[in-house]
Amino acid sequence: MANPQDRYAIIVEKFRKKSLKLTPQRLAIAKILALSKGHPSVEEIFEQLKKTFSTMSLATVYRNVLLLKSFGDVLELSFPDGSNRYDGNRPYPHPHVICIKCGAIVDPALDALKDLTHLVAKETGFQILTHRFDFFGICRRCQNSDKK
Ligand SMILES: [Zn+2]
Ligand SMILES: [Zn+2]
Repeated sequence: MANPQDRYAIIVEKFRKKSLKLTPQRLAIAKILALSKGHPSVEEIFEQLKKTFSTMSLATVYRNVLLLKSFGDVLELSFPDGSNRYDGNRPYPHPHVICIKCGAIVDPALDALKDLTHLVAKETGFQILTHRFDFFGICRRCQNSDKK
């Protein structure tokens, strides 16, 4: 996991470079994405911020997330059911482990995947641009609550 403070500084610098106003809302969204605890959805980010910013709309959060995605500073994880989750802490392709019960998403530490990309390129002759590597299962918390 990247240092959230470093990621926050990088994101703020990106806004600055693109001459975008550093509004308190925008900075608060950047802070949540820099940490990306649990890979939040736009709705979850909005839930976290609406108490502080009562005038902020869901559309504002959505717009800023898409903006950061276009800068390459947020990785979007989309799912067949139409839900999208975001990772601004590690905005490059990396493996995810997803709980099918509660929707928890975690990043496993799997450095071997870099070698795998090389292997796949060598094997197929493809120039690999990106990858998607999702593991689906049941998280520890959901396993425990099943037992009760
Ligand atoms: Zn779970
Ligand atoms: Zn992630």
